[in-house]
Amino acid sequence: MEQKNYRYETLQVHAGLTPDEPTGARGVAIYPTAAYRFRSCDHAARLFELSETGNIYTRLQNPTTSAFEQRIAALYGGVGALAVSSGMSAILLTVLSLASAGDNIVTSPHLYGGTYNQFRITLRNLGIDCRIAPAETPEAFGQLIDGRTRALYVESMGNPTCAVPDLEGLGTLARRRDVPFVVDNTFGAAGYLCNPFRWGANIVVDSATKWINGHGTAMGGVIVDGGNYDWSNGKFPQIDGPSEGYHGLNLHQAFGRAAFIVKCRVDGLRDLGCCPSPFDSYLMLLGLETLSLRVRHEVESTWKLAEYCRSHPKVERVSFVGFDSHPSCANARKYYRFGSSAVFAIELRGTLESTVRFVESLHLAANMTMIGDSITVVTHPASTTHKQLGEADLAAAGITPTLLRISPGLEDPDDLIEDFEQAFTHVG
Ligand SMILES: *Cc1c(COP(=O)(O)O)cnc(C)c1O
Repeated sequence: MEQKNYRYETLQVHAGLTPDEPTGARGVAIYPTAAYRFRSCDHAARLFELSETGNIYTRLQNPTTSAFEQRIAALYGGVGALAVSSGMSAILLTVLSLASAGDNIVTSPHLYGGTYNQFRITLRNLGIDCRIAPAETPEAFGQLIDGRTRALYVESMGNPTCAVPDLEGLGTLARRRDVPFVVDNTFGAAGYLCNPFRWGANIVVDSATKWINGHGTAMGGVIVDGGNYDWSNGKFPQIDGPSEGYHGLNLHQAFGRAAFIVKCRVDGLRDLGCCPSPFDSYLMLLGLETLSLRVRHEVESTWKLAEYCRSHPKVERVSFVGFDSHPSCANARKYYRFGSSAVFAIELRGTLESTVRFVESLHLAANMTMIGDSITVVTHPASTTHKQLGEADLAAAGITPTLLRISPGLEDPDDLIEDFEQAFTHVG
């Protein structure tokens, strides 16, 4: 595509699209291939020593996946992107590309459950210390940074509390202390609702399973490199230093601003092997084509449904970041288009049993652990994601027996309201 400052809606259908020369096909082809034939042994050698870029093996790159990566990079305004097999693998690959045993990362208490466990248990067992600041503020983060800190890590909206950090303040802190600022922007929906690069992020990860795919049909994750971090400060010899896996090649000298994303691919993806399937990359591309339309509808439905629930006598409390009553309302207004994402939570006035009856009486909203699907999802943390916690731990996590997380889908919001209305009659 011609390089021009196209707007989001244009990029989401055009970026990464190149006409297929022999056939003229408009659609991006799915390349179900594991390997690629080299033109010669010399050609193969150049690809392997990274002096020429090209396809070697689908664990490293695939034409369908490349189109998806180019579209993601364009939507975020990054210098490059890497697609992987899940959001969790995007996070793992990012941290392992930045930190080694003996290093640490500084993060917040508002983390997705899977991320929390990856950081606190798996990374700790690999010798990477994950320091959780008591609050998501620059002051609290600043106190935990030392000479071995290799990343500041937050979610642009925390799952499930919907806490929105002071992205700009944390970006300034990261720059001042010369540490890469990594943001999980899953709730920011591929940069449409929130683009952390505008506020000082250096690296973005995004679970493509959610709003990027948008139809609940495939798992995936992406890493995006903002190209705005100076790797030559001596803290990252694996990027600006002789590369052990490539005969001493210095990735920073060879690839400049794209050094980090190249590192993630040529070392991370090569060694960890968490590559996406070309078919799933195709589904992600298809999902992206309608992302803004879907997300806009889902955010509108979230506002309508949250307002309906707020005035319902069987609802004790509505936790929606768009409402003034939410502690992150001001930050959401600053960082999120429309001042919110497409997720909210309610607490029913009732018991665990009546909450279960409510969930099981819904006809449209599906009882699943998912967000960003095309159908509406209701999640009951007390019986699912947080089932193993005792009463005290549940209370500490803010999970009550009647709490429900809701991610509105593409249905007509009036049908969703009517579905809730009939299900409320089952709450005692
Ligand atoms: C779902 C989710 C992840 C993990 O992504 P998967 O694709 O399920 O591996 C990470 N972060 C956030 C905020 C999420 O919602």
